[in-house]
Amino acid sequence: MAGAYDDRDGKIWMDGKMVEWRDATVHVLTHALHYASSVFEGERCYNGRIFLGVEHSKRLRRSAELLDMEIPFSVEEIEAAKYAMLKANGWTDAYVRAVAWRGSGEDMGVSAKRNPVRLAIAGWEWGNYYGDAKTKGAKLDIAKWKRPSPETIPSAAKAAGLYMICTMSKHAAEAKGCSDAMMFDYRGYVAEATGANIFFVKDGEVHTPLADCFLNGLTRQTVIGMLKEKGVTVHERHIMPEELEGFEQCWLTGTAAEVTPVGQIGDFSFEVGALTLDVAASYEKLVRA
Ligand code: PMP
Repeated sequence: MAGAYDDRDGKIWMDGKMVEWRDATVHVLTHALHYASSVFEGERCYNGRIFLGVEHSKRLRRSAELLDMEIPFSVEEIEAAKYAMLKANGWTDAYVRAVAWRGSGEDMGVSAKRNPVRLAIAGWEWGNYYGDAKTKGAKLDIAKWKRPSPETIPSAAKAAGLYMICTMSKHAAEAKGCSDAMMFDYRGYVAEATGANIFFVKDGEVHTPLADCFLNGLTRQTVIGMLKEKGVTVHERHIMPEELEGFEQCWLTGTAAEVTPVGQIGDFSFEVGALTLDVAASYEKLVRA
């Protein structure tokens, strides 16, 4: 399966029924397309089981609530839909994308109360998000855009609008030959990458930014739990840019990224060290357990 994402064979679950891939379309006067009234999830199915599927479905509904939207499907219905979509496409290992949005309706201004909230669940086969960086270590640019204050935007939501600056940052990074960009937050602290959380190692201890203005990723939470079980001290705290120089190892976490080592951020270099490789291997084992 390859080619443009709107021109493939397969099935997509949409608003309660399975439709042909190419028929999973929306109208141009869709509220979400104009005003970013959209939330989504990225999940991975391993050996027929979606890792933390229920947690992702709960987060989807929670993200919608933060945008004043109610998804007209329960967590149980969303779970069933995801597995039905996987079955319809014959996949046991795939990336799953659920997306909920304000559709077309009687409103076309900013207010959208009269427009239906819609839900679609698609999937595709997706290998390593950062390609061979998975083994060699990703090279990251430093983004010029900052993660906004939670008083500016609902930063705990996995909402489309929050990704505008991510796409711009990632394009700038790729133009410099980097895989991604690390973003600072509105206060100047280290925040995360454009679609993944970040961890650092120094003197055998782990430091990761406090998730107080960006997505507290499910992979991030899983990895913190794993580290604590291994007896590794984890500091969730504000990290200053000046500290980057002193860190020895670095990795990214995310559903798509899984655990990806980082070799470079701007002018700072990191080794793909033992703890990074250990965490990546443990995560890989866990998702297939
Ligand atoms: N931050 C951003 C901006 C993301 O898009 C993602 C991917 N969903 C993450 C962090 C990691 O979240 P998770 O581990 O829940 O996939």
